[in-house]
Amino acid sequence: MPDPKLVRPWHGIPREQIVWHPTVDDDACIGCGTCVTGCGRLVYRFDFERKKAVIADPLNCLVGCTTCANTCPTHAISFPPLETIAELLERPEVHHAVEDELLMRKDQVAWQEALPHPDRLVRLVVTRKEPIGEKNLLVTLEPYGEEDCMCQFIPGQYLEIWVPGTPWMSRAYSIGSAPREDGRIELHLRRIEGGRFTTWAFAQLKVGDVLTVRGPLGHFVVRSSLDKPLLFVARGTGFAPIKAMIEQQLELTPARDLLLFWGVTDTSDFYELDLLSGWAKSDPNFRCVLTARTVSAGFVVPQGLEFRKGTCYDALEASRFEISKRDVYVAGPRKTVEATLRVLRAKGVPHEQILIDSYGN
Ligand code: SF4
Ligand code: SF4
Repeated sequence: MPDPKLVRPWHGIPREQIVWHPTVDDDACIGCGTCVTGCGRLVYRFDFERKKAVIADPLNCLVGCTTCANTCPTHAISFPPLETIAELLERPEVHHAVEDELLMRKDQVAWQEALPHPDRLVRLVVTRKEPIGEKNLLVTLEPYGEEDCMCQFIPGQYLEIWVPGTPWMSRAYSIGSAPREDGRIELHLRRIEGGRFTTWAFAQLKVGDVLTVRGPLGHFVVRSSLDKPLLFVARGTGFAPIKAMIEQQLELTPARDLLLFWGVTDTSDFYELDLLSGWAKSDPNFRCVLTARTVSAGFVVPQGLEFRKGTCYDALEASRFEISKRDVYVAGPRKTVEATLRVLRAKGVPHEQILIDSYGN
């Protein structure tokens, strides 16, 4: 019998609507019983006659858990593909569920203790806030005090940023600029419909606000040898870490062949086009293909850049550029990354030449 205490909605979705439970391959199962005794949610029973594990209460299984599969000595246990969870996470009711569930228990949760050690926090002051179209926000931050240095990071890394006075609400954003001596950095924020952080950032964040951040964090950085040509593929504000990387490469390795495909939904979502055009004019080794599904009235392709209607991965697929020898850096939502990986595979780019920075939807 499913246990009502265990068969609770998962992030707001009724448990019965989610297909997530183990399956045992009878031929592979040697009947060691590890899964049966190891699962505290009583999903399994043991068939003593056949000496096999059997699934008795699949709904008791914790969505996303794969512990029993990891401990089975013969790999007899399988689960639905991880995309099952990734697709659930894209549903709006799931979007804030973790935060909501923690907020309900905030008296039990020591938020201050949950914050990283103060030594690892930096304060940055907002010096510029500029909307880019309706969906994006460009924010410039500078060190608040002398000890708040933000000069040393590797382009491609990100920061965790807190809403002031709200220790439970933080989000991660890639730094959209290469390191500068004055410690100034740039962030590109994409509006998430109903998103708490971006709703606050678009409506309330103002010049002069002091933000607490943790970082730099992450390993999405250029790690290619100096002679390698590079391909960058970005979707939306996935452009931020890519822009920082290109900025760095133009300065450190100006002779390197750099190719960028940047896709957005509508041409009005583009920003920093003057900068890209300037790079293309001043550096013959930098080439850039912009893509958008729709074209707003008045859009003019900036000098030195190319434009294709559609997606960045379709443009990449149709492109004349030789890419199989390039190291590739891809940043954007999961679906774009997956589609890009399919194109890269078809074009013969080995897996080890690809580095990915992917976010939720
Ligand atoms: S852990 Fe694997 S081998 Fe052992 S009983 Fe479970 S399914 Fe069978
Ligand atoms: S995945 Fe976790 S909860 Fe589900 S059956 Fe295995 S151990 Fe139990």
